[in-house]
Amino acid sequence: MERRHFKRIMLKISGEALAGDQKHGIDLETIRSLAREIKELKDTGAEIALVNGGGNIFRGIAASASGMDRAQADYMGMMATVINSLALQDALEKEGLSTRVMSAITMQAVAEPYIRRRAERHLQKGRIVIFTAGTGNPYFTTDMAACLRANEIHAEVVCKATKVKGVYDSDPMTNPNAVLHKHLTYDEVLSQNLRVMDASAIALCRDNNLPIIVFSMKEKGNICRVAHGESIGTFISSKYPF
Ligand code: UDP
Repeated sequence: MERRHFKRIMLKISGEALAGDQKHGIDLETIRSLAREIKELKDTGAEIALVNGGGNIFRGIAASASGMDRAQADYMGMMATVINSLALQDALEKEGLSTRVMSAITMQAVAEPYIRRRAERHLQKGRIVIFTAGTGNPYFTTDMAACLRANEIHAEVVCKATKVKGVYDSDPMTNPNAVLHKHLTYDEVLSQNLRVMDASAIALCRDNNLPIIVFSMKEKGNICRVAHGESIGTFISSKYPF
């Protein structure tokens, strides 16, 4: 089934995806190839906002499970997202794209402070805006940051790039017979406890009717395909068909 073509897009990239085949750190070749795909999408006239995770460097919840203060660990996690954002910015600029990094935690030497109206202006001017440092608050995730900012800037969709093709009925890494969901409602995701994003991020999208597409960024060209309405991955909205 054809979906619609989206003009203003929020693209969420997990920290893990930036590590390529490594488990930790930044794989520059992966980031370069991602930047080329984003350039392709930009050339079609899309307005692109990005939120990246930090799990490839530091994850607050994991550190707090090992005894660290949760809020302290979460602030470290937010710092980790900034490192990734700067790497992404560099790669995007090498592709000739105009970018701005806006941080939820004031860090003037490396990023602009997050000001919603300014972010919208950047997007209108064709700049790619990378929202960094999550929401600026501990106990949240970068998925939540992506959904929050997407709502604030009136993005038409949140595209969550992952290592798997979308949302399955069970873990495709351990179950070879796992079935991919093509469509789900927000309530199905929440009631079946499907591990897409944290429940608060899903609920925020549900309450504001903002669709989410979960797709794999492993296949080259998928970012453009998703934005142009090709039926790949899992589409999450309030009802289907759309
Ligand atoms: N984080 C936070 N508040 C936010 C966003 C992120 O405290 O609004 C911290 C949290 O510790 C999280 C880490 O930053 O574990 C990295 O983000 P996330 O785990 O969402 O990254 P991803 O899983 O996408 O790599």
